[in-house]
Amino acid sequence: MTFNEFNFKDTLNKAIEDAGFKEPSPVQEKAIPLILEGHDLIGQAQTGTGKTAAFGLPVIQQMSGDRGVEALVIVPTRELAMQVSDELFRFGKTAGFKTATVYGGTAYNKQIDRIKQANIVVATPGRLQDLLMSNKIKLNPSFVILDEADEMLDMGFLDEIKNIFTFLPQERQTLMFSATMPKQIKILAEQILDNPKSVTITKSERTNTDIEQIFYVVADYERDDALLRLIDYKNPNKCIIFCRMKKEVDRLSSYMTAQGFKVAALHGDMEQKQREHTIRAFKKGLVDIFIATDVAARGLDVNDVTHVFNYHIPFDSESYVHRIGRTGRAGNKGEAITLVSPNELRTIKRIEKDVGTVMVSDVIPTRQEVQTRKDSDLLAKIANTEITPSAKELVKTLQHELDIVTIAHLLATIAQEEIDVKGKDIIGLGTQEVKALIERAKNWKGGDRNGGRGRGRNRSRGGNRGRGSRDRRRSGGHRKSRNGGGNRSSTNA
Ligand code: ADP
Ligand code: MG
Repeated sequence: MTFNEFNFKDTLNKAIEDAGFKEPSPVQEKAIPLILEGHDLIGQAQTGTGKTAAFGLPVIQQMSGDRGVEALVIVPTRELAMQVSDELFRFGKTAGFKTATVYGGTAYNKQIDRIKQANIVVATPGRLQDLLMSNKIKLNPSFVILDEADEMLDMGFLDEIKNIFTFLPQERQTLMFSATMPKQIKILAEQILDNPKSVTITKSERTNTDIEQIFYVVADYERDDALLRLIDYKNPNKCIIFCRMKKEVDRLSSYMTAQGFKVAALHGDMEQKQREHTIRAFKKGLVDIFIATDVAARGLDVNDVTHVFNYHIPFDSESYVHRIGRTGRAGNKGEAITLVSPNELRTIKRIEKDVGTVMVSDVIPTRQEVQTRKDSDLLAKIANTEITPSAKELVKTLQHELDIVTIAHLLATIAQEEIDVKGKDIIGLGTQEVKALIERAKNWKGGDRNGGRGRGRNRSRGGNRGRGSRDRRRSGGHRKSRNGGGNRSSTNA
């Protein structure tokens, strides 16, 4: 099926095309016609299934654009408010619709001004309730959407929601979306929806059946080791490690930092500014490991998270669904990895039954397996690396000073760093940089020798990784000048 079949107006078709959407996702296919017919709707689908467009497109289609705020979307968190608002802006801008985002922690006046000019408002419950109760704004939307209703319930917003609805017109189309349907959500639905249609996307219809779910049975004292080894082995692009408690988040992040990993912690009592800063760093890839509690990761939407690790299995199935939904987004593949102690196996069974999913068990890879995997990853990368004339020069310079194994190791690492940064180019180096590299290579040799014997078990896992990432950080300065050199030499060539 194509988007054309919905007979959207031209401006909207243009926006869909600009967004790069080729065909509707299952929830969109089912929900859009019902919403266009004017029904209230209750939609159940996991994260990453495209719910925003499922309500956004048909609502925008029906908006006139000439009577103030026509659509009100209520979402649990500030991050979600921003995301949903961005997505709706994309769909609405070709028709000239304005979007306002409303959340706590910022000045009222600006927000109020924006609301007064907006056609679509995306708001978190707390601030929205404040504004309505203090009479600072009046809203008369024809469309009201509750997004991620179960998360709002979990976050204790039920009273706010009910109160907000007392300020809204009776005459309206109401849509409610939720990943799960606990009883209180069903009760709420009866109160705010009028004769709703329902749309449920079962697991087999989910766009992200692409999440592979694996569990590893470990003794409690092995958790840290197992986690680090799996991270080394799986080599995630970006990952989120879930802990049950803030205390665990703090402990694990200091431990992993000490082991040379670059991690960021995210928990509930962080300042909003700090939180946003951290999330931005994660999105940009400045940090590729997030350690978080369930609450802190609510609504976190980062498309390229390849792995979710459950340091402990969550207490309830709904948390499990939310957690693993942070990967396998937007049609990507994802892996959800859960560490369980033998006495938690029953919880696995229960979650499988609740969620209607299957987790397969696997054994923690041996150190040898980790090394083999890393070597083959590296070889694959090198195979794709162009050996540039300047790299050949470097080898010539170095061959008098270093043995071939060290040079190979050095080049491989440079190659890897460059690949990480800018594709596959080993670029021109000046005398200074070459000297610095030789120093590095020498230290390496020393490091390997000592590390190899002295530190035993730790070495091949935390040890190597630690050295690698420290070097990476230290070489930040060099990289810039090397890049500069490279650009120059390629223009000259
Ligand atoms: P949900 O609200 O169900 O978690 P989102 O609405 O946030 O999901 O959509 C997840 C991602 O998928 C977003 O990046 C969105 O732009 C993208 N997306 C949604 N619908 C489609 C589609 N039909 N084709 C391609 N990408 C889509
Ligand atoms: Mg959503």
